[in-house]
Parts: sequence; structure tokens; C-alpha cells
Amino acid sequence: IIKVENLEKKFGENLVLKDINMEVSKGEVVTIIGSSGSGKSTLLRCLNLLEEPTSGKILYKNENILEKHFDLRAYRTKVGMVFQNFNLFENKTVLENCTLSQEKVLKTSKSDAEAKARKYLELVEMAQYINAKPSQISGGQKQRVAIARALCMDPEVLLFDEPTSALDPEMVGEVLRVMTKLAEEGMTMIVVTHEMDFAREVSTRVLFMNEGIILEDGTPEEIFTNPKNQRTKDFLKRYR
Ligand code: ATP
Ligand code: MG
Repeated sequence: IIKVENLEKKFGENLVLKDINMEVSKGEVVTIIGSSGSGKSTLLRCLNLLEEPTSGKILYKNENILEKHFDLRAYRTKVGMVFQNFNLFENKTVLENCTLSQEKVLKTSKSDAEAKARKYLELVEMAQYINAKPSQISGGQKQRVAIARALCMDPEVLLFDEPTSALDPEMVGEVLRVMTKLAEEGMTMIVVTHEMDFAREVSTRVLFMNEGIILEDGTPEEIFTNPKNQRTKDFLKRYR
């Protein structure tokens, strides 16, 4: 569903992504692991065009999203993103956070938007908080709302950038459980994470990034029990 070819990203003279090639098929759960500064977030942000790639191609269903006439607006509804810091609208309720973009971007009617929001808030077990403001709920609850909000746009792919790393340890599990449920339901997901258990148990494929390149791309089995590269081994040692 997404294919990346020879992607490069420079910030000034700093080449942060070097010749990235990857492909994600429908229904896959691809986790991206690697040290701080290796380019994981930049890659994810390029996939969503929050950053503009310097060169290369990003194909979505065989269409290059970097072409001038490509319909980016539609693309952005199809490829959702969940951020480390939730990015909820603080002055809106949980329900409004989930209906706003549906009404504004998809032009869904208010009643249909609310029905869909309730459905997904139920899925993430936040239905009883629909009238709360983000300031009144915990970090784990906020992230579950952010996931429900993303689902409300009927995405075909969901991108997650360290969705649990801003959370207190006791809240990590509830968010990973929701993500696991989505994975089991067949959602196509690309997840940057430091949660090695999630990467090992839930993902269909793991990419190890190092200094702006994808150094290894394999099944969890291949990456975790038989990494080819010394750098991958060194990185994984820190999580044992
Ligand atoms: P972390 O695990 O800490 O989140 P990461 O793998 O996500 O790290 P990136 O955030 O993609 O790494 O950063 C890769 C490199 O790009 C870093 O050297 C960073 O300083 C640089 N970088 C990222 N964003 C920008 C920006 N907006 N302007 C300039 N340099 C940037
Ligand atoms: Mg990052």
C-alpha cells in the first residue's frame, strides 16, 4: 500500500535520511526501531508529508504522493498519525476531538460523526469520558482518545510515533492493548517504538534504523533472535 524508493531528507547540510527503501503491504504491522537521532520520526513525518522529502519517491497505491497533481488532502485522511504527545485540542471535549475533523474535512453530518466517534471511543474503552476535557483525563486515556480520533477518519494506514513514550509506565499497557487489538483486526500500521515486546510479539516486520538508513528489515524472529548486523545486536542488548 506504501512503497518508498530512494528517499532522502536533508535538514540544511545534514543528511538525515539516506536512500530509504521500504514497502508496506495492506494488513502489515511494521515497527521501526533504532537509536535516538537515527531518523525514525523524520521517516514517519515524510510518509505523512509533515516533512518534505529532499528526493526520492513515496508511492501510495502506486501513485507518487510527491507529484504536483497528487490529491494530498485525500491522502492525509487515508494515512492517519498518532503522536507521542497526543496533540488533542485541549479546549474541546473528548467527543468533539473525535468529531471535529470528520465534520470539517470529511463533511460528515454531526449525528453521523458522533455515532462514529462513539463507536471508536467504545473500542478504545473511553466511551464513559465523552464529555471530559483532555485536562481531566490521564495520559494513557488521552492517547486512547487520539487513536479513536484517528480511526474516525477511516484511515487505511495508521502511523504511530512513539505512542507510549510520554506515558507513565502503568499506562503503557492500556495503549499497547488497543494497538494490539487494531493489529489483530487487520489495520495497516507503521509504529516507531521502543517497546521491544510489542515489536517482537505484534509486528509482522521490524525495521532497524541506524544513522539514516534501514540497516535491517526482517521478521521479528529474524531481527530479535538472529540479527545480522553488529549494530542491531548492540542496540538490542540495551533492551535485555
Ligand atoms: P528519537 O528516538 O530521539 O525520537 P529519531 O530517530 O526519531 O530520534 P529524528 O527525530 O528523525 O530521530 O532526527 C534525526 C536527525 O534529524 C537528528 O539529527 C535531528 O537533530 C535531525 N532533525 C530532526 N528534525 C529536524 C528539524 N526540523 N530541523 C533540523 N534537524 C532536524
Ligand atoms: Mg523520534
